[in-house]
Amino acid sequence: MTSEPRQIRLVMELRAEGVTDAAVLGAIERTPREEFVPPQFRDRAYENTALPIGEGQTISQPLIVGLMTQALQLGPRMKVLEIGTGCGYQAAVLSKLCRRVYSIERHKSLLGETNKRLARLGYHNITAIAGDGMKGWPEQAPFDRIIVTAAASREVPQTFIDQLAPGGILVLPLGTSTSDQHVWRVRKDEEGSVTREKLWAVRFVPLIGGMPESNGRGQANGAG
Ligand code: SAM
Repeated sequence: MTSEPRQIRLVMELRAEGVTDAAVLGAIERTPREEFVPPQFRDRAYENTALPIGEGQTISQPLIVGLMTQALQLGPRMKVLEIGTGCGYQAAVLSKLCRRVYSIERHKSLLGETNKRLARLGYHNITAIAGDGMKGWPEQAPFDRIIVTAAASREVPQTFIDQLAPGGILVLPLGTSTSDQHVWRVRKDEEGSVTREKLWAVRFVPLIGGMPESNGRGQANGAG
């Protein structure tokens, strides 16, 4: 696939801002962000900014997608869990760098559109379901890597640590107010001990437990 000039410009901007991993930059360059944004925002798809995707949610800023993906230190044989599928953009980038992505989204309407999009674009190593990501995905655990794309409160949810494989890495935003949120990297060593490091300030939509009322009853959720 030939990259457009605006795609190349975005990748150069991300490199200047700290995304230095060539594989991550390559994955971003090969992911057509204009396919993941609503039609009225297509002309802004390669701006380094978050954009609305419906249901009050956003597609993440490309810089944050790049930095969080880089912080995961992915390998080609890894199994990755993403919480907060949204439009599927982050999952699409991850899918180029690991074996399989499992992703959970609490808004069924977003998930329905996203699954159609991912199938149309040929992303066959992503499995995305509707459910409460706060429960993780116990049937598929453990995961080599977990990424959360909505902000939890101050504490790292124990479910995610439990579902992380020994030697695994979890990257997630923490903080209740948008003026005081940071991305953290949590490592679980081979003995199960956990250490955490604060990476950078961010502004994410909140991680919300439970399903929205508009989803009705009947939870198509393998997540527990
Ligand atoms: N990953 C997306 C991307 O590629 O641009 C961005 C997702 S948006 C910033 C965060 C998403 O997390 C929203 O779609 C929101 O509905 C979802 N979310 C929030 N709480 C959740 C939960 N408990 N379980 C699953 N998804 C959740």
